[in-house]
Amino acid sequence: MARTSKPGPPGPGWEIVRDASAMIPCPVGCEELWCPEHEQHYADCPCLGPTEDGVIYEMHAGIFYGRRTQSPE
Ligand SMILES: [Zn+2]
Ligand SMILES: [Zn+2]
Repeated sequence: MARTSKPGPPGPGWEIVRDASAMIPCPVGCEELWCPEHEQHYADCPCLGPTEDGVIYEMHAGIFYGRRTQSPE
């Protein structure tokens, strides 16, 4: 049986980078974008945008990941 490498983040703290185009309108009906992955507002979910400060980015198994190098203030 062939062993396939399981796709996943390169390590703890890494999140898949998703930009606003991956988000859907808020199901509650407010003006914010909604993250279907985390089921919360895009602004509140842990998704990383593609150009955030204090984030390092790495392509891993064909998926773009980011990791925060500092806590948001
Ligand atoms: Zn909302
Ligand atoms: Zn999210």
